[in-house]
Amino acid sequence: FLEIRGIKKSFGTGDSRVNVLKGLDLNIEKGEFCVLLGPSGSGKSTLLNIIGGIDGADEGSITIEGERLEDMTEKKLSMYRRKHLGYIFQMYNLIPNLTVRENIEVGAYLSEQPLDVDELLHTLGLYEHQRKLPNQLSGGQQQRTAIGRAIVKNPDILLCDEPTGALDYHTSKEILKLIETVNQRYGNTIIMVTHNDAIKDMADRVVKLRDGMIRKNYRNEVKIPAIDLEW
Ligand code: ATP
Ligand code: MG
Repeated sequence: FLEIRGIKKSFGTGDSRVNVLKGLDLNIEKGEFCVLLGPSGSGKSTLLNIIGGIDGADEGSITIEGERLEDMTEKKLSMYRRKHLGYIFQMYNLIPNLTVRENIEVGAYLSEQPLDVDELLHTLGLYEHQRKLPNQLSGGQQQRTAIGRAIVKNPDILLCDEPTGALDYHTSKEILKLIETVNQRYGNTIIMVTHNDAIKDMADRVVKLRDGMIRKNYRNEVKIPAIDLEW
């Protein structure tokens, strides 16, 4: 479904040049919940940005359902990003003067087949809060709203970059469980960077990046031992 082949990426020039990704290969199946681990600076966000078409690789290719991102015209790439990709970041970036419901509806405008907003509000546990503004919500509720905005267009791929980085452990776990529910209910392929070890019970695949390479890549047939998430 998603094929990552020989991805290389460096930043800077001359002496300050850093090779961040040194040739990555990875296949992700449709509907898979894939977790990306690695130390700070190992290129996790860079890889998500390349998959999301925000940044280009120096070498290699990203193929989604048989179509190479590098071969797409600007217009096609923009369509692909709007219709098929959802993003969830550590910062929620909600629109402050729109309600919970309206923030989620913003995501739906971009889609031909949006999910039912009422159903989604129930799934996210936000139905009772739908008329509140972001500053009337807790951090967890704000992040759930951001998840709603990303998921309402029913994206094929949901890219999550430390979605619970700003939340306490308990709330983080709830949010991760919610993303797992979304994955099971709507079948979206999820690629997530997280440091929260609650993920070990949820991920279908775990990929570890280090020194610009994939050091481990396994399907999580059994639960991953907690020790394996450490460096
Ligand atoms: P973290 O866990 O801290 O978020 P990460 O694994 O997401 O780290 P990246 O953000 O992908 O790491 O960054 C990888 C390396 O690439 C870092 O050394 C960073 O300084 C560098 N880098 C990333 N983006 C740029 C950029 N636009 N210009 C220059 N260097 C960059
Ligand atoms: Mg990062």
